[in-house]
Amino acid sequence: MTILLNSLEARDAAFVLHPYTNASQHLQDGPLVISKGEGIYIIDSEGNKYIEGLGGLFCASLGFSEQRLVDAAMRQMQELPFYHSFGGKSHETAIELAERLIRLAPVPMSKVFFANSGSEANDTALKLVWYYHNAIGKPEKKKVISRWRAYHGVTIASASLTGLPNNHRDFDLPIDGVLHTDCPEYYRYGLSGETEEEFATRCAVSLENLILAEGPDTIGAFFAEPLMASGGCIVPPPTYYDKIQAVLRKYDILLIADEVICGFGRLGTMFGSESFGMQPDMISMAKQLSAAYQPISALMVNEKVHAAIVAESAKIGTFGHGFTYSGHPVATAVALETLKIYEERDIVGHVRNVAPLFQRRLRALAEHPLVGSARGRGLIGTLELVRNKETKEPFRPTDGVATHAGKRAQAHGVVTRAIGDNYSLCPPLVITETQINDMFDRSEKALDDTYAWVRASNLY
Ligand code: PMP
Repeated sequence: MTILLNSLEARDAAFVLHPYTNASQHLQDGPLVISKGEGIYIIDSEGNKYIEGLGGLFCASLGFSEQRLVDAAMRQMQELPFYHSFGGKSHETAIELAERLIRLAPVPMSKVFFANSGSEANDTALKLVWYYHNAIGKPEKKKVISRWRAYHGVTIASASLTGLPNNHRDFDLPIDGVLHTDCPEYYRYGLSGETEEEFATRCAVSLENLILAEGPDTIGAFFAEPLMASGGCIVPPPTYYDKIQAVLRKYDILLIADEVICGFGRLGTMFGSESFGMQPDMISMAKQLSAAYQPISALMVNEKVHAAIVAESAKIGTFGHGFTYSGHPVATAVALETLKIYEERDIVGHVRNVAPLFQRRLRALAEHPLVGSARGRGLIGTLELVRNKETKEPFRPTDGVATHAGKRAQAHGVVTRAIGDNYSLCPPLVITETQINDMFDRSEKALDDTYAWVRASNLY
């Protein structure tokens, strides 16, 4: 790209430090400036139109031009643009949203705590694990376990829970007391001759061994995304959560479901927990909660956790946790309108209707010479690109094959992101069957281009 002096591109390179961007590469490449959104499409500053193949960042469930959400924000801005929830203050949209969320919860939940991002919701969950165990007189039960390749956020606590090396390296993370156990990805970690169920058993045994080695009295909670999205769309093998939950129950360990991506229909169920029979004590959610039109997240807690908070507050006073923008009126108004739209338009039913086509087109690409594994559920899926389909040997990270595929996809009018070696798709939930076919036709061209480039560059 040629960057013109004083253009938006040049000013971006001059002034913006980008999240999740190669800072050195960015100074050469400059940004892709997005100017407008229309349904499932985004339009850049030069007028090029793209399918948003990743729903922004797994979040723009209703696309980019939902007028009802704009109106809900506007109404709330005019009525009460800000108020907080500290010291027992409240306002109508936060109350209504909390009530609706409790009614939607996949298992009985008691209260909703609002925050602004998925990371904050998970930070809050970790703090509550500690607070809860202090409150019930088990102060030694404070270590928590998540999984390698999990994604739970980037704040100090949530990045520690995240199980990806790039989020730890150079940041001096994880913090003490955050442990990681096996990633349940059968394609990479299943042994030859091992069935998926045997693999699930092995994961549960490994979790139990970790708990025993650390001392069961020191382990307070297990954090899990129902389907691990950012780590490479990892669908847990059948029986995995039954076996994991049996271990957690045995040692009285809380389960926190991170529904930041799976929540609100992504897998064809309102929550991912329903898809896998999870019975969490707390649920974190964000992203599709407001269709991404406002930054908002929430943590639901069950009555066991809530009762402990009440008892502790009675003893020590104020519950010392909260954000200025917890339950922000505009964010809660937009989230509330989002949930009404989901219900009125039966968005979960729509996902169930179109997901079979999405998954069929995805799995057909398993035949492509670059694709080692095609996996997903509902309206999320990934194509894991490998150097050798037989041996599953990956490309070298420096080969940048998935990055190249992402660039070719962009050239063919689909925006997605390279996640490791994955070409991932997670479109807005409102995508139609025609648009799904279009997205896969374009993605196929991107893969063919990438294959030609891989061969021409002698990466084999
Ligand atoms: N949990 C999961 C499962 C996520 O996918 C993400 C974000 N991709 C987060 C937490 C963190 O959310 P945020 O970026 O809003 O802090």
